[in-house]
Amino acid sequence: MGEQTRLYDLTYDRLVAWLAAHGEPAYRAKQIFHWLYVRRVRSLTEMTDLPKRLREALAAQFLLDDLTELARQTSRDGTVKLLLGLSDGHAVETVVMRHRYGNSVCVTTQVGCRIGCTFCASTLGGLKRNLTAGEIVAQVLHAQRLLDEEGARVSHIVVMGIGEPFENFDALVDFLNIVSDPRGLDIGERHITVSTSGIVPRIYDFADLGLKVRLAISLHAPTDELRSRLMPINKKYPLTDVMAAARYYVEKTRRRISFEYALFGGVNDRPEHARLLAERVRPIFALVNLIPFNPVPKRPYVRTPREDIVRFKRLLEEEGVVVTLRREHGTDIDAACGQLRARHHDQSFLPK
Ligand code: SF4
Repeated sequence: MGEQTRLYDLTYDRLVAWLAAHGEPAYRAKQIFHWLYVRRVRSLTEMTDLPKRLREALAAQFLLDDLTELARQTSRDGTVKLLLGLSDGHAVETVVMRHRYGNSVCVTTQVGCRIGCTFCASTLGGLKRNLTAGEIVAQVLHAQRLLDEEGARVSHIVVMGIGEPFENFDALVDFLNIVSDPRGLDIGERHITVSTSGIVPRIYDFADLGLKVRLAISLHAPTDELRSRLMPINKKYPLTDVMAAARYYVEKTRRRISFEYALFGGVNDRPEHARLLAERVRPIFALVNLIPFNPVPKRPYVRTPREDIVRFKRLLEEEGVVVTLRREHGTDIDAACGQLRARHHDQSFLPK
C-alpha cells in the first residue's frame, strides 16, 4: 500500500490529536472507537452519528481495510488457523484457540523473521517487512468477528505468531495500547502475553513502559553452547544477559515471567538439561512452559517421546520449579507456527 495510514493504526490519543487538529471535539474519538471495535463496522458510512464532513475527512486521510481470509483450517478441538492476506499481497497467520478460561488469539507481528532459530520454518525466507499496529489489530478483529458468530469474545491475546515482536517495537506498543483500550476491544493487559526470543535491550525498554502484560522468553536451552545452536540470537544476547533482563522485568512490573522451552528429541530433553534449567530459572521464580515440538518441514528436529516429556517435567518440579505443559491445539491441522503460510508458499499460492 502507499503512504496512507489505517484507522486501525491509531491509538486513542493519536485519534484525539488528529481530531483536534481538524477542529473536532475529543468525544468523537470515543464514538469512532465504539464503531470500530465494539460495533465492528466495516465502513465509515455506517458511523451514522458522525457528521458527513468528518466522515469525508477521515476517508481522505485513512484506510479502513480488513484483512482478506485466504485460507481457514478448523481442528477437532475447535482451534481455527487463518491465513490472512495483507493489502500488498503478503499473508500472515493468525490462530484462534479455545480454553476453559476463554478464547485466545495468537497474532503475527512480522511477515517472515530474521532471527534465524534453527527449528523454525518462518525464518527460512528471511524478513519481508514489519506489520503496522493496525495490521496486528486487524488480526484480532478478524478473530473477534469469527467468534461473534457464536456469541463469544476474544478474552486473551498471545503475541507468539510469526516474527520477533521486539524487532517491531513501536507497532507492538501501539497495538497493545489499542486492543487494551476500555473504549474499544477492552482486552486487559493481564490477559495479554508477549513472547520474545530474548532481545535484551528491548526487554528493559518494555519493562520501563510499566504495562501489566505478561512476558514470555523463549529459552529452549540451559547452556549458551546449546542455545546458540538452536537460536543464533544467543550469540548476541547470551543467557546471563537474558536472565538479568528477565529479573529486571519481574522487579519492575511485579509480574511473573515465563520461559518457553520447546523439547527437541535427543537435543535438549535429557535429565542434565532439566537440572541445569532449574538452576537458571529458580532464582527469579519464573514459570517454565514446556512445549512438545511438532516437527516442521525442512527442519531436522524430532519430537521428544511422551515418557521423556513427563520425566523432564517431573525433574523440574523436583527441583522446585513451577512447570506447565502446553496443551496442544490443532494437532490435526498445520499446527506449528508458519506451516500454513509455508505450505501456501510451496504451492506458489502467495507471493514470495
Ligand atoms: S521462532 Fe520466532 S523468533 Fe525464532 S525465527 Fe521463528 S518466528 Fe523468528
